[in-house]
Amino acid sequence: MENDSNTTHRELAHYHACVHCGSLSRRDEFDGAAVATGVYPCPKCGLDGPLNLVIQDVNATATGTRDSTSSNSAG
Ligand SMILES: [Zn+2]
Repeated sequence: MENDSNTTHRELAHYHACVHCGSLSRRDEFDGAAVATGVYPCPKCGLDGPLNLVIQDVNATATGTRDSTSSNSAG
């Protein structure tokens, strides 16, 4: 009996999308307190915001550190 299973295993990881600059941070690096409080300080812009979880491919995010268009609005 042959095991008929797809070998295409996609590595998915949880990321935190900053609501300010939109940068993605690995959820694995999140602090326990951040997850508990639901607020996560962005290591890029320094602003804290609601924990916005995003599931993406590890391979997709592993490569390509291009600057995303940051729409900075006067606040
Ligand atoms: Zn940010």
